Amino acid sequence: MTMLKIDNLTAEVGGTQILDGLSLEVPAGEVHAIMGPNGAGKSTLSYVLGGRPGYEVTGGSVTFRGQDLLDMEPHERAGAGLFLGFQYPVEIPGVSNVQFLREALNSQLKSRGEEPLTGGEFLKLAKEKAALLKLDMDMLKRHVNVGFSGGEKKRAEMVQMGILDPAFAVLDETDSGLDIDALRVVGEGINAIMRNPDKGVLLITHYQRLLEVVRPDRVSILSKGRIVRTGGPELAQQLESEGYDAVMEAA
Ligand code: ADP
Ligand code: MG
Ligand code: MG
Repeated sequence: MTMLKIDNLTAEVGGTQILDGLSLEVPAGEVHAIMGPNGAGKSTLSYVLGGRPGYEVTGGSVTFRGQDLLDMEPHERAGAGLFLGFQYPVEIPGVSNVQFLREALNSQLKSRGEEPLTGGEFLKLAKEKAALLKLDMDMLKRHVNVGFSGGEKKRAEMVQMGILDPAFAVLDETDSGLDIDALRVVGEGINAIMRNPDKGVLLITHYQRLLEVVRPDRVSILSKGRIVRTGGPELAQQLESEGYDAVMEAA
């Protein structure tokens, strides 16, 4: 089954065309890494998939598990099993992580016609996922991302992913700002939560090092708003040793 199929997608931000005929397909069971130089449109792609206001699709189509994704509201996309991890996670003063995560989970359960978890059930689940990401439970009692280090924000986001248990995750530079140990914990967390024959991942990253932990099935290079090359994991290694310019010239 195809989890995500993007066909000839074009999109504008602030009247400027950023995505320029982007096509990509991720079958169930695969982790597909997207690499590419700064400004290529990687974050724009993740925002467009999430339905962020201001990111206007001007052409093409996106199908998510057989449904027209672009026709769905952002909360419907989440309810259908799409998770987005952001390059720059937002702070939410006044709302604790526990409140935020429980609300997010229960609203998704509700949209699928399932019963919400009780407080006790939720805490048990949250503890299990926090342990998986080696994040202290005290962090989850604090306000969302307020005063968190870069690494703590990313771990908290992966705890959220573990709790929501999505069918598909788009992860935008989840490795940015992580030291080597945190990178391993986060990478192993992604494997534990998302490596499953019924799931899929679009893993956006600048660097090879996360890909040594979360080993991708496919690697694509995004440049100037389109996919210019797709290959196996060796393509990421080649990029790391030769740089984008050399690899794209050879394409
Ligand atoms: P990447 O994540 O690959 O580094 P982005 O998707 O963040 O790239 O940005 C792609 C291009 O879109 C860049 O040239 C950037 O300057 C431009 N861009 C991003 N956001 C906006 C915006 N709000 N208004 C105008 N241009 C934008
Ligand atoms: Mg960037
Ligand atoms: Mg980006």
